Order: sequence, then structure tokens, then C-alpha cells
Amino acid sequence: MYQVLDPATEEVVTEVEPLDLGQVDAAVARAVAAGPAWRALAPADRARLLRRFAAVVDAHVDELAELEVRGAGHTVGNARWEAGNVRDVLDYYAAAPERLFGRQIPVAGGMDVTFREPLGVVGIIVPWNFPMPIAGWGFAPALAAGNTVVLKPAELTPLTALRLAELGREAGLPPGVFTVLPGKGSVVGERLVTHEQVRKIVFTGSTEVGTHILRQAADQVKRVTLELGGKSANIVFADADVERAAANAPAGVFDNAGQDCCARSRILVERTVYDRFLELLEPAVTGLRVGSPAKPDVDMGPLISAGQRDRVRGFVEGGADAGGAPVDVAFRGSAPAGPGFWYPPTVVLPRSTADPVWREEVFGPVVAVLPFDDEAEAVALANDTEYGLSGSIWTRDLGRALRVARGVESGNLSVNSNASVRYSTPFGGFKRSGLGRELGPDALDAFTEVKNVFFADD
Ligand code: NAP
Ligand code: MG
Repeated sequence: MYQVLDPATEEVVTEVEPLDLGQVDAAVARAVAAGPAWRALAPADRARLLRRFAAVVDAHVDELAELEVRGAGHTVGNARWEAGNVRDVLDYYAAAPERLFGRQIPVAGGMDVTFREPLGVVGIIVPWNFPMPIAGWGFAPALAAGNTVVLKPAELTPLTALRLAELGREAGLPPGVFTVLPGKGSVVGERLVTHEQVRKIVFTGSTEVGTHILRQAADQVKRVTLELGGKSANIVFADADVERAAANAPAGVFDNAGQDCCARSRILVERTVYDRFLELLEPAVTGLRVGSPAKPDVDMGPLISAGQRDRVRGFVEGGADAGGAPVDVAFRGSAPAGPGFWYPPTVVLPRSTADPVWREEVFGPVVAVLPFDDEAEAVALANDTEYGLSGSIWTRDLGRALRVARGVESGNLSVNSNASVRYSTPFGGFKRSGLGRELGPDALDAFTEVKNVFFADD
């Protein structure tokens, strides 16, 4: 057994039994066994089960949210949205079983049609930052396409995934169709990747582990979808509504205490409005309410763990510029004293683009701000990273918005907004931010193989 801690209080929420290799293999065997009946189910019946699963999740939004507040330190407003997102993604992909269209292609001597066949068992490996949505983005389309699913939650945050699996059974999913396997990445996660009967891995987490998984998957030509790190740029041009850009910037990076792969953790501001932007940003940051995530009026809760807090602190205080000196803190918000893994929202001014705080994914409430002189420099700075997940562009010039949006090497951009994720639109990264896309109309491609069949007419 290991303990799940409340990150806001460091109290033990509950204990969870991590699975060993034998238990993982047994679960995969059950998922294999459940496959034929699940894929043979009439499309309308599979759709109905997914809609029922969505309805059961909807009836438990508050309970799931409370689990995420206690077990992951998410603010209650965010946690309710996250549980609602699982419901919405299930509803969205409930339409898919009846719309998994193939094609009829003109050929000589007969008829040619394509089918979208399920892959078999899909393994989903989930990080601790958004336990519910990231799980749902994997299991909802995977199940809709006729696959069975084994899902490993992060060791730190297994509770909502375990509850979702129970709710799936309550909704009528047959045994073995959707199983949650708590345990260590090095044990359960590794086994899902190396198991020959797990035909695909959907992984979200660090670029380091994602790279390791991609390498291992090569042995079996195993399919992978990877959603990895980010160092996204929030680009503010002088012609923008600078007040709005500044007012929105904190939520764009400090939401979920900055533990968000889409966090706009680099702010680039056109030099002519740089001072004014910082003046406007300061009250927006110092005014953030940081505290118990269970309180409805709180903007930011704690970090997930002591280890993550120490890592974040290291970027700011621990000799974090390229030469080993602490970075300059422009200003910072507050954080409670006492127990809990707290870190205040912090705005830093790097000395150069070589500083680790400018280059590396901090995954905490730290944002770095630099000025730029023109559009070309803004795009070059935004692209000067191995990552390419999200980003924002603030300008009133439509042509510029279009040019910069086409110029930034990133999978998800927003203009005059910091929103990255909608379940109906594709999500994923360029460069080392990932491989493949989740969500939206094309996600089913990632959970099916195209089969071509020719019927001779003689
Ligand atoms: P991580 O190690 O990449 O963990 C992500 C998931 O992979 C967890 O479920 C983890 O299990 C599992 N895992 C770990 N090693 C594995 C292996 N060898 N084979 C298969 N699965 C494995 O991320 P982390 O260590 O929690 O966080 C470190 C940093 O990664 C963060 O500071 C942040 O920069 C980045 N990160 C990014 C995202 C994102 O959404 N892009 C999410 C989380 C973290 P355990 O929890 O049991 O180890
Ligand atoms: Mg790790």
C-alpha cells in the first residue's frame, strides 16, 4: 500500500494498492478476452453504453471533483470543469460508433471498400496534472472505436481514475472493457509498453519518459500517441488590447498552479509597451487568491508534491540562470504558510534566452517575460525552443495574427485568447511536444487501422 496525500494539507487521503507485474498481465488478459464481444456489439448499442457512461459521470460530477480537490489540490471550480469534461468527451465520442465510415473506391473487376478496425487493447498512461480530462481523451475515443482499455493513472493521483472505472461498470460496460491499473510507472507503465498484446500506447507526461516509450515501442512497431511537455509563448503586440492581454496572462500560465503542458510560461512583449504591460500584470498577479482549493473563490491551489515544489523553486532561487545566479524576480503573489506544497505565482525577468527558466518546462507558477522589437523577432523567439504545444497571439491586426499564427511552430494557438483545449478540436504538439493528435473529429484515426477489402465480381 502507498499513501495518497492531500497537497494542500499533507494529510493522508487514503491508501492505494499498487499492482505488480502478475496483476498487470492478468488485467491485460481480461482486456484481450473482452475485446471480441465489445467490437461485435451493434454500433448503436456501443453508442448507448457510452452515453450512459456520460450520464453516470454527470450524476457524480461533485463527487469526482471533491476527490480531485483532495487528492490533487485542484481548485473546486477547475475540478468540476474537469469531471464535466469527461462527461462531454464521452458524449462527443458516443456519436462515433455509428459514424466510423469507410470508403468505397472505384476499381476494375469488383468492389473495393475500407473498414476502420479497432486495434485491440489500448494502454493509456496518464500524468498527475489533469488526471480526469487526460484519461477521458484517451479512453472515450478508444472505447468508441471498439478497443478495450487498460489505463495507468499517475502514482500521485489514482483516485478519480479508479472511480471512473467503477462508474463505467455502473453504466453497464462489460467486465474487462475498461480497467484502471494503479501503480508505478516503472512497473505498470513499463509493462503496458512492453506487453505484446497491448497494441497501442497513449502517453501524456514528460518528454523524457515519452522519448523512452517511443524507443521501446519500436521493438513491436507499437502505435503511440505522445502528448509531452511545452514552453508556450504568449506574444503581446503593441497594437493589442494590452489591458486585456495583461489581465488574462496570469490565468494563461498559473491555472492549475502552472502544472499545465499548455501553460504560457514565456511572455513576449513588444518593447514599446513592455513597461506598461508589466505595470498592468503586477496587480493581476498579486491579486490572485492562492489558498485552500476547496474554497470556491480561490484562483490557485498548491503544487502536487514536495518534489515538484522543490523543482519549481530551483528554477527561481537555486542558481537558475545560465551562469548559476538566481534569476531576477519582478514581482510575485502570495502563498499560504504552514503545511501544503505551496509556491507563490512568480514573474521573473531572465537575463538571456539561455536561462533555464526561459528554456525548460518549469511546470509550476513561474512565468518569464522578455521584450521583442518586431514581428520577425517575436516569431523567432517563440520558435527558439524544442517544444511546440500551444501559444497565444495578442494583436488587433488581422493580417499580423494570421502571419504569426502560421509562423509559430506549435499545435494549438489562440488569437486574443489563451484557451487551448476544446473537445471538438484537435490537440497535440509539434517538435518534442508530442506525436499525433487527440480530441476532435480525427481522434478516431489514432484508435483504428484502415483495412482495405476487394470483392471480385465474377
Ligand atoms: P512522468 O514521469 O513523465 O510521468 C507521467 C506518467 O508516466 C505517470 O503515470 C508515470 O507513472 C508514468 N511513467 C513514468 N515512468 C514510466 C516508464 N518508464 N514507463 C511507462 N510509464 C512511466 O512525469 P513526472 O515525473 O510526473 O513529471 C516530471 C515533469 O514532466 C514535470 O515537472 C513536467 O515538466 C513534465 N510533465 C508534463 C506533463 C504534460 O502534461 N505534458 C504532465 C506531467 C509531467 P508514475 O506517476 O507512477 O511515475
Ligand atoms: Mg517521472
